[in-house]
Amino acid sequence: MPHMPTSDGRPAWRAQILTLFPEMFPGPLGYSLTGQALDAGIWSLQCVALRQFGIGRHLAVDDRPAGGGAGMVMRADVLAAAIDEARRQAPDLPGIVLSPRGEPLRQETARELAAGPGVMLLAGRFEGIDQRVIEGRHLREISIGDFVLSGGELAAMVLMDACVRLLPGVLGAPDSLVHESFETGLLEYPQYTKPREWEGRAIPEVLVSGDHGKVDAWRRRAAEALTRERRPDLLKSLSMAKVDPEKNG
Ligand code: SAH
Repeated sequence: MPHMPTSDGRPAWRAQILTLFPEMFPGPLGYSLTGQALDAGIWSLQCVALRQFGIGRHLAVDDRPAGGGAGMVMRADVLAAAIDEARRQAPDLPGIVLSPRGEPLRQETARELAAGPGVMLLAGRFEGIDQRVIEGRHLREISIGDFVLSGGELAAMVLMDACVRLLPGVLGAPDSLVHESFETGLLEYPQYTKPREWEGRAIPEVLVSGDHGKVDAWRRRAAEALTRERRPDLLKSLSMAKVDPEKNG
């Protein structure tokens, strides 16, 4: 569905996904927040089936790796034809290929992409894709973590989910973004809800005290302690950025 305006007149954030398995989509993205946002036209999803650009009677999309070795590699000419068709329909979208070799996907990457017009995502399969198409079509390589998936579709869904929930109007309370893990440079503090006592474990007293200043201070300390223990690397980049949320409000 190309560029259907949302109710407030903004063009929809547009995701194009180039895949051998278009029937996988929207999949999990069709549920809950992302699904409601899709129905509301806040974002749109278009699958481009790679198979239709395949070569010969069997519509081949892959071939044996040059230099030998196991598995199959996706052909540059086939992928380029699909990319060119996608770009013809939406020339302004940044082209991304999901790849374990790519830059790690971070919250700031999601924020950057969510602020733009959308994304064109190429999902690899088999051993990966011919290097020349990455260079020749200026694709940005993004990884969702240091592990190897069997295909790029799940990685594309992860990236889209991280972006879509940041689009205006997707989350009920925009406030809920502010204190989240990574948004402050810290992991999120522990959360609690009813019942007040469960299996002998009580909610920390300060959280039920009604004193918002004390609650904020407790959460800040808890977030810092958790981050120091689990992800000291985040604290390091935080101190380099010299962020002081106490002073900034
Ligand atoms: N031989 C490749 C892995 C191919 S996995 C290598 O060693 O780098 C097949 C496809 O799954 C890839 O083309 C990519 O699109 C996707 N994929 C696998 N792991 C991924 C990850 N961590 N992040 C993003 N995409 C991934």
